Amino acid sequence: MRRLRNVKIVATLGPASSDYATIRALFEAGADVFRLNMSHGSQADQRARRDIIRQIEADTGRPIAILADLQGPKLRVGVFANGAVDLEEGNPFRFDLDPAEGDGHRVSLPHPEIFAALTPGARLLVNDGKIRLRVNACGPDFADCTVTTGGTISNRKGVNVPDVVLPVAALSEKDRSDLEFACEMGVDWLALSFVQRPEDVTEARDLARGRAAILSKIEKPSAVAAFTEILAVSDGIMVARGDLGVELPVHSVPPIQKRLVRACRTVAKPVIVATQMLESMIESPMPTRAEVSDVATAIYEGADAVMLSAESAAGRYPVEAVATMNAVAISVESDPTYREVIEASRKADRRTVADAIVAAAREIAETTDIKAICCYTQSGKTVALVARERPRVPIVALSPVPATLGVLCLTWGVHTVRCDKVERFKMAVVNAARAARDFGFADETGKIVVIAGVPFNVQGTTNILRVAPCDERLIFSADPE
Ligand code: PEP
Repeated sequence: MRRLRNVKIVATLGPASSDYATIRALFEAGADVFRLNMSHGSQADQRARRDIIRQIEADTGRPIAILADLQGPKLRVGVFANGAVDLEEGNPFRFDLDPAEGDGHRVSLPHPEIFAALTPGARLLVNDGKIRLRVNACGPDFADCTVTTGGTISNRKGVNVPDVVLPVAALSEKDRSDLEFACEMGVDWLALSFVQRPEDVTEARDLARGRAAILSKIEKPSAVAAFTEILAVSDGIMVARGDLGVELPVHSVPPIQKRLVRACRTVAKPVIVATQMLESMIESPMPTRAEVSDVATAIYEGADAVMLSAESAAGRYPVEAVATMNAVAISVESDPTYREVIEASRKADRRTVADAIVAAAREIAETTDIKAICCYTQSGKTVALVARERPRVPIVALSPVPATLGVLCLTWGVHTVRCDKVERFKMAVVNAARAARDFGFADETGKIVVIAGVPFNVQGTTNILRVAPCDERLIFSADPE
């Protein structure tokens, strides 16, 4: 089974997509990566979903990535005596540390660290920014505010504090427990929510101990400000437009998305564009034209992946949502303008032998009739460099390391293939030719480019490029070694 597009599709699982038949249908419709959202459901629910994904992987013989998305230090108000209150613009309202039930004048905000960081003039945004307040006066256990945009606040609604870097731990107790749980059961990627500084990422990396790649969700102004440093210590990035559009004006999200996607492409790290891509499909079998255009824009920008959240987790049409993304991707990628845009926006900071080899591979593949660039890889690093070139021909990543293939499922254009460990270059070529034929990239008359590093099975040795026939007899007769 092979995809007919380069951009990857991430589908979040939830109540609407938790049985084998639905998850398999999502995979067949085009989902390459499944996201387990640790903010919802129990660890037992997530384990059951993980087991189903690994079963589908075994049944189809195709690597599938699992991304566990940690909740992060999400701030929430306490509860109200009547469950909810209406706040009117211009009225005063207090947040404090008193655990007593709230009313129309005050409510508990059980996060002392927020009060420590607040200053007069700072904004508090409640319920995805629908209700807005400005701080007039504050102390170590209270903040007296004025409502600037009114609305209804109900029990445990989320609070965003965009104007200050909060001295909160990057990982709550729940996150630490979920991180260990996810690593222990086996996931490919860990996503970190509300990252504020590069240290937040290194802390999670230390806890993961190499068991999963680390993806930073950019959803805070402080993360946008420190993006270069955060990208340097992350394995991938998510443009988490939901919270980003709450913490910053919504109109600032598109330019940030463009900047982040370009920065990730330049350093060959995968980037996901997420949230509200096909929001109306939660209720409707048809997306809006604007949503289709939004998905298309992310693809034209060269993002590695586009993501579904509630559409696939809790919507009425999860499979149709994936099929829609798949169809949009095929349509965009077959547009000649797509190639023009992708090539015009190619930017690579080339310094190493591997950088030069992958650039040469693309050049050869696009100058002559080459059916695929095949890369025998240990760590996946060279494959990421090939993907950075955004070549016109398919990229086949061959590896004996399942974790490497799992991580690469998120990378633009990469078709992952598990293979045996090889000790000789010829076997890497034979494996590559076989994979190219088996998955329909080439027939026996075709040619491929093979990239590998010798000595084998050692990271960071990429040093060979070979143009090879797909006919095994020719491979053996061409080179007796
Ligand atoms: C987002 O805010 O866009 C996002 C992806 O995060 P979550 O779905 O965890 O709120």
